[in-house]
Amino acid sequence: MTDRDSRHRQAMQRLKTHVDERIANASEQRGQLLVFTGNGKGKTTAAWGTVARALGYGYPVGIVQFIKGSWECGERERLSDDPRLEVAIMATGFTWDTQNREADTRACQRVWQQARRMLEDPDVYLVVLDEVTYMLKFGYLAIEDVMDALARRPAEQTVIVTGRNAHRQLLDAADTISEIQETRHGFNAGLEARRGIDY
Ligand code: ATP
Ligand code: MG
Repeated sequence: MTDRDSRHRQAMQRLKTHVDERIANASEQRGQLLVFTGNGKGKTTAAWGTVARALGYGYPVGIVQFIKGSWECGERERLSDDPRLEVAIMATGFTWDTQNREADTRACQRVWQQARRMLEDPDVYLVVLDEVTYMLKFGYLAIEDVMDALARRPAEQTVIVTGRNAHRQLLDAADTISEIQETRHGFNAGLEARRGIDY
């Protein structure tokens, strides 16, 4: 063995000891709260990736899309025939122009009732609250209601929250926070959102 080989081997052994120690320390078993936030692209796709992962083991999953309306969404097309997946979509009424606060608030509250039901159901292994951060920001939904439902949820249930500008209380309660930074986005160079890639 060369010097370089044996140095590498020693380094790998040290790394393994360190990683094994950390794995042994991470032994708590419970559902988690994950927040995918930041301005970069990838929050919703990361959430759906986790949905596919959970469904892959046959776990029941609930997704609530707070902003999508009836927009196209390729991942929903692909996965929604899985009987273990329930998707609740905020009904018509929401527009980015938010010209009608009352209608938007009603639409939000309606879909929130479905979210609450999922958050009370011990059979649901994973709940995704996609873009819920905006509902809090616009005041369509009260942070107290969300925090209360999260706190009361079944101990084995994992929740993923996505959206920019996550509320401080959500961040404080989260087990895992991934902030996706926008280093660059093609949109700013005039690239149109692409079917099957962006939605
Ligand atoms: P994705 O759904 O692709 O994972 P996201 O959930 O991180 O993106 P959102 O803020 O929810 O991002 O944006 C919704 C839409 O805008 C998506 O079509 C996404 O591809 C696109 N998008 C995401 N980030 C940016 C950005 N920084 N600038 C412009 N468009 C973006
Ligand atoms: Mg998103």
